[in-house]
Amino acid sequence: MTAEILSVGTELLMGNILNTNAQYISQKLCDLGINCYFQTTVGDNHDRLVAAVGLALSRADLLILTGGLGPTADDLTKETIADAFGRDLVLDPASEAHIRARFARMGREMTPNNMKQAMFPRGCIILPNPNGTAPGCIVEAGEKAAILLPGPPKEMAPMFDASVMPYLEKRSGYMLLSHVVRVFGMGESEAEYRLLPLMERQTNPTVAPYALAGEMKLRVTARCKDAAEGELMVTPLLAEIKETLGSVVYSTNDQELHEVCAALLREHGMTLAAAESCTGGMIASKLISVPGISEYFLEGAVTYSNEAKMRRLGVKRETLEAHTAVSEAVAREMAEGIRATSGASLGLATTGIAGPDGGTAERPVGLVYVALAGAKGTAVRELHLSGNRERIRNAASLNALDLLRRYLCGSLTNC
Ligand code: ATP
Repeated sequence: MTAEILSVGTELLMGNILNTNAQYISQKLCDLGINCYFQTTVGDNHDRLVAAVGLALSRADLLILTGGLGPTADDLTKETIADAFGRDLVLDPASEAHIRARFARMGREMTPNNMKQAMFPRGCIILPNPNGTAPGCIVEAGEKAAILLPGPPKEMAPMFDASVMPYLEKRSGYMLLSHVVRVFGMGESEAEYRLLPLMERQTNPTVAPYALAGEMKLRVTARCKDAAEGELMVTPLLAEIKETLGSVVYSTNDQELHEVCAALLREHGMTLAAAESCTGGMIASKLISVPGISEYFLEGAVTYSNEAKMRRLGVKRETLEAHTAVSEAVAREMAEGIRATSGASLGLATTGIAGPDGGTAERPVGLVYVALAGAKGTAVRELHLSGNRERIRNAASLNALDLLRRYLCGSLTNC
């Protein structure tokens, strides 16, 4: 099966906007193994659009168009496709109700030309648009089909994923199955370097890395006949990635670090309390976003001043004076203090210099200590983080959670 993408919009030709829709659709077609030999961009001009549609339909089985579905006179896509397929345009009552309801909800007056968006080539499949007024549609005729999608990417992409992907999977006989591997504690370049032989060898499933704030993920995607076949294809690759990267892999199902920690606390029946200085509640906030965490996360204390560290956690004045608040010794006393005073099985603590001010040559911005106290002792990690204040704080909270994860997984045994 071959497909072509036809992007409709004068703004695209004038360079006012970048054609991200074509890139999005091309990537999906490529993943599905559907060949796309041409991408065409045409302005909002009737004659040139008719010519472009005719040419595309003479070459491809499937024509995917974006843009020109709106209410104004220069939105011509549906009319042109209806003509090309010899159909008239008819009103779809369900789309009319959706458009009327949307205007009512927004408290905006609906002008008569908006009804144009409820008119469709007779006999087409209508694609709902939960993110806008213009629904999409699929017009089929024998071996050929045209898929009409709205121009705005935030409407087009969700419609593509929800309605077009299942249609293309059915038509092509293939589907895509993805697993997302999450990695913390290894830079993207090192991970890519280690995985390069594997990535170069793989054509199906494919492995694609993505950088996230302070961590990274790898999307492993199989093109398969059904989910069972996809799982069989992906499973050995996931094992190989884990083997290659080691313990920095913390989930293979897109679970985030705090979700993994919450699940591990539950599995081990252990409770946690956190004393946060530079992270200011980020750890507590991440953990509390997980439903049902109240049984395992007992409390979080934001102990920012030295006074709070002493009063709330029992950090000793001498320790603060001898080592300063950003030190291994204070991190240790914070973790032990929150553990003792909360009655939790584990105490987690952070203290650091998030910047942009407050750094010195010996204690630069980005110096952070994270500590975990347990029944057997306390582990402290010294970190040298980079970036702005938000990045440092986020990375500090992720490092603290990673310390907790490693303990709960059994790879950290001294606390
Ligand atoms: P609307 O109902 O909003 O009028 P439409 O389907 O008629 O949608 P257009 O009017 O062609 O779409 O485009 C609307 C907006 O969507 C454009 O101003 C532009 O911001 C964005 N857009 C359109 N086509 C593309 C594209 N190919 N890539 C990225 N953005 C696009």
